[in-house]
Parts: sequence; C-alpha cells; structure tokens
Amino acid sequence: MHHSLAALRQSLEQRGGHLVIRKGRAVEQVVRLAQDVGAAGVFFGRRYEPWAIEEESRVEAALKDLGIEAKRFGGSLLVEPEAVRTAQGTPFKVFTPFYRAAQKAMPALALKPSAGSLVGAEPQVSGIAVEDLGLLPSAPDWSGGLQDTWMPGEEGALAALDRFLSDSIAAYDVDRDRPGVPGTSQLSAHLHFGEISPRVCYVRARQSAEREPENAKGVEAFIRELFWREFCQYLLFHWPEMTSRPFREEFARFPWRRDADALMVWQRGQTGYPLVDAGMRELWYTGWMHNRVRMVAASFLVKHLLVPWQDGERWFWDTLVDADQASNAANWQWVAGCGADAAPYFRIFNPVTQSRKFDPGGDYLRKWLPELAALPDKYIHEPWTAPETLLDEAGVALGRDYPSPIVDHGAGRERALAAFKDFRSDDG
Ligand code: FAD
Repeated sequence: MHHSLAALRQSLEQRGGHLVIRKGRAVEQVVRLAQDVGAAGVFFGRRYEPWAIEEESRVEAALKDLGIEAKRFGGSLLVEPEAVRTAQGTPFKVFTPFYRAAQKAMPALALKPSAGSLVGAEPQVSGIAVEDLGLLPSAPDWSGGLQDTWMPGEEGALAALDRFLSDSIAAYDVDRDRPGVPGTSQLSAHLHFGEISPRVCYVRARQSAEREPENAKGVEAFIRELFWREFCQYLLFHWPEMTSRPFREEFARFPWRRDADALMVWQRGQTGYPLVDAGMRELWYTGWMHNRVRMVAASFLVKHLLVPWQDGERWFWDTLVDADQASNAANWQWVAGCGADAAPYFRIFNPVTQSRKFDPGGDYLRKWLPELAALPDKYIHEPWTAPETLLDEAGVALGRDYPSPIVDHGAGRERALAAFKDFRSDDG
C-alpha cells in the first residue's frame, strides 16, 4: 500500500496534479476536502465490501446535504453486480451460468489513453505525506522478500501484463497449474489495489488472441479467471456475511477442531508435506502463493487437520499481498466445501499426488525447501519414503532438517471423512 500510493503520487505529479492524503473517517475527510477546494462535485470509484458500501453511502449523503454532487462509478470490475441476474431476478450461486450471463451483460469495452495532463487540479491544500501513514514495517523489517518480488504501482502492473502476454499467455491454460514455472500473470495484487483495471487486462488479452491465434486457448482461460474474480466480488456484494459465515449454513455445525499447534505448524510450513510447506514458505517470503498450491495448502488445513477455514482465511488475510475480502473468503469456502458452487467436502486433495502431478521435476519444491534440494525427484514429494542411505547422502535427517508428516495422509483423510459423515447424519 505504501509503495502503491508513492507510485500514484509520482504519476499524478508527472501529469501536473498532486495526491492529497488525509487520515480519518472518509465521511469527515472527504467532505472537509471538498469544502477546502470549493468542489462542485466528488466523483469516485465504487467498492463492493460491505464496510466500503456503507462508508460510501455516508459520504454521498453528507455531500448531498451540502449541495455537492456525488457520483460513484464502477471501474474495478468488468460488470457491475446489479447487472447480472437469473431469469427469476435472483443472484446466481453457480459460476458457469454466472459466467455466461456476465459476459452478455458486460458493456462494450474500448481502451482510452489515460490523461496526459491534469488541468485545474492544482489548489494547494494540506495533506499528510505517504510516510506519515506508517504503513512500512518498523524493526524488524520483514518486507525484504516483498521488495525483491514486486514493483507496486501502475508501471509495475503494466509491466506484469506485458510480460505475461508476451511470455506466458500461449501456454497459460496448461502452465497455470504448474507452480514451478512462471505461467500466471501475477496481477492479483495490482488488480486488488486498483493499479490496473480488469478492463485493460481483458481488452489487451483479446487483442493478443486476434494478433496471434495460437494464444486463443490461453486467452480464454485467462478471461475465465478474471471472471472468477468477478464472481467472488459478486457473491460478497449479494451475501455480505460471506467473509465469516459459511455460505451453506449447515456448515456452521461442522465439527472443526480448534488446534492452535496444528495451525502454527501449517503457518510455518512445517507440516512434513513438501508441497504444502513450500507454498506456505513462498507465501511468507513473497506475500503470494501459486493458486494450485493455495488450493492444496488450504485443503490440507481444513481437511487433514480439520482446522476451521476461518483460521486459514485470517492467516492468508495477514500475509497475502493480494489479500482481498471477496476472493479470499470465496476461495476458502470453496475449498472447505461450504461455499457457493464449492468443491464437495469429501473430495480431498492428496498433497503427494498433487505434487507429483503439477511439479514433477520438483523445481518448485527445491526453490522453497532448500533442505530437500539434494533428494532425487522420486522421493522429494514424500521424503519419509526414501531409504535411510539416500536420505543420508542428501544430508536430510527427518525430524531434524525437515519434519516427519504431522498426520498420515490416509489417516487424515479417514478422519475428515468420518467428521463429514457424522455431520451429515446430525444434519438428517
Ligand atoms: P492468474 O492465474 O494470472 O489469474 C488472473 C487473475 O484472475 C488473477 O490476478 C485474479 O485476479 C483472478 N483469479 C484467478 N484465480 C482466481 C480465483 N480462484 N478466485 C478469484 N480470482 C481469481 N485471489 C486474490 O486475488 N486474493 C485473495 O485473497 C485470494 N485468496 C485465495 C485463497 C485461497 C484459499 C485460494 C485457493 C485462492 C485465493 N485467491 C485469491 C485466488 C487465486 O489464487 C489468485 O487470484 C491467483 O493465484 C493470483 O495469481 P495470478 O494473478 O498470477 O493469477
């Protein structure tokens, strides 16, 4: 957020404008600022989180009382959530029909160049510096990995889109599941912070398929993912309680285990399952985790460890650079089996099979788990099955250099299925 605001300030200044930062309740600060500059109107991009919707309504009402025009605009979505409804007029709960209807409801998109200069934006009004927001970590500075990984701001966002469209889009439909290759766009944080619009991503992707037809499959797959983002925002807009309550209400009675030790082992990437641990360490260092690995790591927490999805959601919220109330909650609920259009609870990812399938050469595992790097491909996905001599040669002592599995996959799976069965029979 700090670097994103600093980049915004810079690009406004390059166009002759400036960024005014004020701290406090939006309803007070926006109104005061509008009065300070003698504004006739206040225009802003709308948001979809329940707290933001409330705050925006208060701002609108306060401005209206003073005779100042207030206008909310869409911009962070491809299609506004009110525009997509079933034939009965209700909101969709299932992705595929939503996707079909949303594409139809989407307004025609044409990219316009951004303003070259900002005229009349000059009255010098007081504000605070980005630094005064206190967004940077104080000692100890844990942000080195984030700084190594990201270039916040519009320039960084456009560079990520360019890289993706030139290097990765052609194979995206396959590579998007392989955590060991840079096969995805890494645009999620840029999209979350509004540094790039999904409309730019959409139009630029379509143009790339028109120019190079071999990109078409990748482009379709990418656009579908952009619509998953839309679907998450849409669900949150229509079911604002989704961030804390299971979408399928009966799951409120699911026999989760509140287990602080298991949660901490998972958070630290010490479960003994290499794919889960590599993901959790990637998350801690970079603030991002590959989507396939997010699914496996989340599933491991809620199924093998039976920890409530809300505990995992909170950890992702604290650590992801793309942490987003809608996408985070919707995806956690999807994994836990209690979401709209969720994967059924009884479908339990096997973290070893997933690892062999999607990271066959172990590149991703070796990057994030250097202590296992010398193990051959055959054993790196499940080091506890390696012969003792081979572990010795690779310099790995299980329990010392790398943990033994926190739970046996088969036993964890059976426990999860038994919990589900009990829950279903209680439910009648
Ligand atoms: P790409 O594969 O390049 O996809 C392009 C864009 O589509 C992404 O930038 C993102 O905006 C959107 N997208 C892709 N997959 C999804 C999805 N499953 N749901 C919603 N939007 C999607 N994404 C977030 O942005 N914020 C979160 O807080 C978040 N929490 C998640 C928690 C769990 C448990 C899981 C399984 C997934 C979560 N995701 C979240 C979705 C997904 O993992 C990320 O959006 C994706 O990994 C971002 O990487 P990318 O930009 O390279 O994606």
